[in-house]
Amino acid sequence: MLSRILLNAIANIAILTLVSYIFVKMIAKKKKYTLTGWQKIVIILIASLTSFILMSFSVNLPQQVKVDMRYNGLVLLLYYIGPAVFVPSTIVTAFLRLSWGVSSAAVYAFILYVILSIVLPFLIKRLSKHFNSYATGLILNAVYVIGHSIGLYFVYYDWKQTLFISFFNFLFSSCCLMINIMFIEDMRVNVQRYLDEKERAKSDYLTGLYNKREFSRNWKEIEHDPKVKHTAFLMLDIDHFKCIIDQYGHVNGDLVLRQVADLLRIQNIEYQHAYRVGGEEFCIILKNLCFSEQKKIAERIRVSIESKQFVLENRQAIQVTVSIGLASSYSIKDMKKLYRLADRALYQAKERGRNQIVALEFEE
Ligand code: GH3
Ligand code: MG
Ligand code: MG
Repeated sequence: MLSRILLNAIANIAILTLVSYIFVKMIAKKKKYTLTGWQKIVIILIASLTSFILMSFSVNLPQQVKVDMRYNGLVLLLYYIGPAVFVPSTIVTAFLRLSWGVSSAAVYAFILYVILSIVLPFLIKRLSKHFNSYATGLILNAVYVIGHSIGLYFVYYDWKQTLFISFFNFLFSSCCLMINIMFIEDMRVNVQRYLDEKERAKSDYLTGLYNKREFSRNWKEIEHDPKVKHTAFLMLDIDHFKCIIDQYGHVNGDLVLRQVADLLRIQNIEYQHAYRVGGEEFCIILKNLCFSEQKKIAERIRVSIESKQFVLENRQAIQVTVSIGLASSYSIKDMKKLYRLADRALYQAKERGRNQIVALEFEE
């Protein structure tokens, strides 16, 4: 009997851990995520199926009483995903319990699950404000075991037997819950670390703008996007940046680079990301805008930099200008060719005296 209980407990833990793994893998691809309707339905189906499988590994007691960890799975669902999936999964689980045979134990379990599906979403809101995941899990588990004990008492009419079963039920289910929460928390930390690193790998450490690698990756997406027809590169280069460094030092050079980047971020919000592609060179990709609109944006950026006061370490304000090479193309999305054209345009802008835009259209 004892070995059977142990085997069933291990099977329950293993099944729950496996399902938790699948859920974390399914949803934790982004830092902030909202589940689509389909994802919610899939999760409800998997959760209900899991309840059913867990019931097949229940410890079966006299009078058709079943003890297993299906409630733990539902608590995890409520804590990590939310009531929108918890409530339907719990209701389905309640009906599934009846499918194992209608008995007084089954009816009490059904009633308990229906009550829990209503009460727990309110309870967890308050609990998760004050307690961490482990304490919240333990309290919710205690709530369940108390409810289960009341049902047990009306099945056995023996409080000693009820207390005995409930004590071990609480012990086993709490251990199982703690193991699962530990596992999920560990996975979540690792996923968050991975997402942070991924984000860091995209950006330039000094300015926070996207870097050249991300620029190439985004361009590949544009190349394969049939909705993008008209493309353009804006290549910006700070004028006489070396003189700024010679005069004010590297630290102030970095400050200027950061302020240029901030300005590009503000100016560029409604279009595309800005990228830092070299020391004091920046690039912006424009999508689906006509040549005159592209030139207007380039001019707006040039003017905003020219008219900004760049503040140095000692609070001194200096003027900075940029030259901009604009390469525009309709339907041709060859990055190398456009890049070369933008480079040529930038070179011409420098030659013509800097602080200006040269715009060239790609011709086959
Ligand atoms: P031009 O108007 O022709 O562009 O002249 P310029 O002086 O801006 O161009 P040049 O290529 O001669 O100088 C660029 C300078 O940018 C040289 C380099 O020391 C500086 N630089 C490049 N990356 C960084 C950086 O990350 N931080 C700082 N402080 N300086 C940088
Ligand atoms: Mg340069
Ligand atoms: Mg320069």
